[in-house]
Amino acid sequence: MLKQGTLAIHGGKPVRDSYLSYGRQWIDEEDIHAVVETLRSPFLTQGPKIKEFEDQIAKSTGAKYAVAFSNGTAALHAACYAAGIRQGDEVITSPMTFSASANCVRYCGGTVVFADIHPDTYNIDPAKVRSLITERTKAIIPVDYTGQPADLDEIMAMAKEHHLVVIEDAAHSLGASYKGKPVGSIADMTMFSFHPVKHVTTGEGGVITTNSDEYYQRLLLFRSHGITRDQALMQHSLEGPWYYEMVDLGYNYRMTDMQAALGITQLQKLDKFVARRREIAERYNSQFNRHPLTTIPYQADDRNSSWHLYVIQLELEKLNATRKEIFDALVAENIGVNVHYIPVHFHPYYQAQGYRKGLAPEAERLYDRILTLPLFPAMSDDDVNDVVEAVEKVLAAYS
Ligand SMILES: *Cc1c(COP(=O)(O)O)cnc(C)c1O
Repeated sequence: MLKQGTLAIHGGKPVRDSYLSYGRQWIDEEDIHAVVETLRSPFLTQGPKIKEFEDQIAKSTGAKYAVAFSNGTAALHAACYAAGIRQGDEVITSPMTFSASANCVRYCGGTVVFADIHPDTYNIDPAKVRSLITERTKAIIPVDYTGQPADLDEIMAMAKEHHLVVIEDAAHSLGASYKGKPVGSIADMTMFSFHPVKHVTTGEGGVITTNSDEYYQRLLLFRSHGITRDQALMQHSLEGPWYYEMVDLGYNYRMTDMQAALGITQLQKLDKFVARRREIAERYNSQFNRHPLTTIPYQADDRNSSWHLYVIQLELEKLNATRKEIFDALVAENIGVNVHYIPVHFHPYYQAQGYRKGLAPEAERLYDRILTLPLFPAMSDDDVNDVVEAVEKVLAAYS
């Protein structure tokens, strides 16, 4: 562990007295009350709060259905199951993401194909995706990196042409929109995560939204052991009121009612959270846009990011320091910077399967140059000023 705040450059006092993390939840008394009320209710898991939470997610994203899961990774696994991914199938995704975007394909025995990112948006490049489609391609998992939706029109059109399923990893983009449409109603299935650093939290939690009746049924089945009580899905007739059937191999990926209760009160604050994230991102943009040693994230005109992460590129050619030195110096200033992400194919698990460095030059180049700055709605204006001041101080020391 780095000793925080002890290595400030110029030997002086760090910009901040206390450590500012890169992301953090916002929990208020209303949230606490909602969870406590659920503890007093007859239902701790899969009670009325689950459906209420799912209905609110569906409403806010414009999707027909929402199915809640124990976490976002389980939700992605369920989406791959619903899409029918199995051994021999190829699924195309981005290397510039959290490993869960790719791992879900492996859970179903499928093969991950990494398409490089576009150097402007840092999202998967539709032209690269197209060049990687084969007879075996079954699905595309675009990731809305940092909260800016991927090129969904191009991806959906390609998918239609080649009969592919699109599972959007929207862990970063709850509350974002694409050409005026909310994320969650565009792809065949869309995943949101409710991990504490994401826009709203349920502790652990995730959801899939979809407009498809068929996917909806398969997601429900997978969430709960592959068990159904719906006669229409059973092989045999009811033997009695106790009767149910396990018709496929599912998991226990259920969310609890306590989590859903928290999700409901959190969702009521989503607009406020996103507005504050945008405000902070705009402040960073205006500050770092004019800085000669940083490149701010590009934003396409036709989409509205919900700013899960704020990522700057360092102009390393003009700096007398490595990214690691800049990183360490900012931590010494008590600024909780981070790096999102190590390209997925760099991890030993994927390296052991034969994915080589060099397969995604744009993502790999980006990885060497990026820093994630703190961004979460509970940050005060002073916190934001501290980040700006510390970055300017450190860059000045190394320029
Ligand atoms: C957070 C995240 C996930 C997984 O969500 P969990 O709820 O933590 O399982 C998947 N993809 C991306 C891009 C994420 O950031």
